[in-house]
Formats: sequence, C-alpha cells, structure tokens
Amino acid sequence: RKFVFVTGGVMSGLGKGITAASTGRLLSNAGFDVTAVKIDPYLNVDAGTMNPYEHGEVYVLKDGGEVDLDLGNYERFLGVDMTSDHNVTTGKTYQHVIENERAGDYLGKTVQIIPHVTDDIKRRIREAAEGTDVCIVEIGGTVGDIESMPFLEALRQFSHEEEDDDVLFTHVTLVPYSKNGEQKTKPTQHSVKELRSIGLQPDVLVGRCEDRLDPDVKEKIALFCDVPTDAVFSNPDVEDVYHVPLMVEDEGLDEYVMDQLGLADEALPAAER
Ligand code: ADP
Repeated sequence: RKFVFVTGGVMSGLGKGITAASTGRLLSNAGFDVTAVKIDPYLNVDAGTMNPYEHGEVYVLKDGGEVDLDLGNYERFLGVDMTSDHNVTTGKTYQHVIENERAGDYLGKTVQIIPHVTDDIKRRIREAAEGTDVCIVEIGGTVGDIESMPFLEALRQFSHEEEDDDVLFTHVTLVPYSKNGEQKTKPTQHSVKELRSIGLQPDVLVGRCEDRLDPDVKEKIALFCDVPTDAVFSNPDVEDVYHVPLMVEDEGLDEYVMDQLGLADEALPAAER
C-alpha cells in the first residue's frame, strides 16, 4: 500500500486540501483505488460542535460522522464514500489513549505522546487505508504549529516503518508576488527548513501562486529545498477548483508521483485515463 502525506507551509487556506484531493483524483484516473484521511490537529473530537462561521459548515458523512468540510472535497474529487474513521483529530486520538489508560491497557507504563499517541495516529492511518492501493493523508494546519507536532512525528516514524517507495511527502507552500512582480521563494525555503528541522524531507513541492511558477523559480526552489527541479509543481489560481487536477496533470504531477511510488508500471496508459 502507498501513502501520500500532504503538509502545508506558510499559511492555512492555501489550497493544501485541493492539492491533496487533486493528487488522489489523478491516481484514481490512472486506475488505482484511492482513499483519503484528513488529520485535524484540534482538540475537538469532531467538527460537530464547531462554529460554522469560524470553521465552515460541518460535513455530515453517510455513517453520521460530523467532520471537516475537506472530507466533502475528498468524496467529490475521488467519488468514494468516507467514514468518520477518515477524519483523525487530536481529540479523538487523545480520548482513545486516555480511555485505554483508564482501562489499564498500558500495564502501568507512563503514557506519553511518543509512543502512545503517535502509535494511535499510525494505527488510524493504516486502518483507514485498508483495502485500497493509495491513501492520501492531509495534515491540517501549517508546519511549525504546536498542535501538528505529534502528527508530523507520527508520519516521520511511519515513513521509516514502510518501504522507501511506499511513502511520499508533498509539501504545499505559497509563492507570493513581490511589488515588482517577482515570484518570491523565501517563504517556501523557510517552511521547508521548518519541515526538515523535525526530520521530514519533502519529495514533492507544490507552489500556490497567482500564475504558474517560472522555470527559474522552480530551479531556485529545487536548489534551496534539496529536491530535483522536476519535483516542483505549480498550483496557480483557477476560477473553478475542479480545474486543479488538470493544471497539475499538465505539469506531470501524476507521472512524477507514480514514478516515485513505483506505480508507473501498473498505471493505465495515459490515453485510457
Ligand atoms: P487548505 O487545505 O490549505 O486550508 P483548501 O484546499 O481548503 O486549503 O483551500 C482553501 C480555499 O482556496 C478553498 O476555498 C479552495 O476552494 C480555494 N482554492 C484552492 N486551490 C485553489 C486554486 N488553485 N485556485 C483558486 N482557489 C483555490
């Protein structure tokens, strides 16, 4: 089974969810059975009690699960039904670990974020991915947030427990224009530095920008962030988010991801997708 972990840098509301869902859609077009997990690093157990003005409307799943809006994107982009197990929150994880502790399941051990919370996070991801070829895992929030730390640590461990070509890290960042019309890479450099400081090296970088990234901007990002130039993709502003899969396909994101995950040989030929 393959896992694509999608993190975000610089700021939230960038389009990380749409990038993750688009990646999933392209893999599904190539003939793979794709599912998604959304990680929300908040202490609410689910989105049911959250103010819609602050957080957007609650999305209700077929199993009655009250979850983050992003799950709706995944259902629509991937054409699959999700369950509440596909939305992992800090609240759910801690609640489960604390219930286990009260039941004596840890046999007197000191219960800690590492390994007990991180183990529970890894278990949830593996269970949600069961029976599929590829699981896209989106980590809500921005790299560097205190809330995301246990999740990012869990992913770091996860990547060591799986084969190298079974896990891919995609990092989505902002590439803003300066006043003189240049695409600036510094926010991306800083957010990748932050990611690397916790032991994660991105395999793929996606720059959200008003326009496509200039080739020399991609080269600069590649150089400073230690990835090949062909691992840097643009996700430009579009009028309709359903065009995003086409934009990133046009840059070859799907082929690159499939190559890295060792899926290229099994993929449907491009003409049949
Ligand atoms: P994040 O996961 O980073 O918080 P989302 O994927 O939820 O961000 O997207 C945030 C907002 O930006 C949504 O309203 C989404 O429709 C919009 N958006 C995402 N990608 C694009 C794009 N390429 N062009 C225009 N709007 C986009």
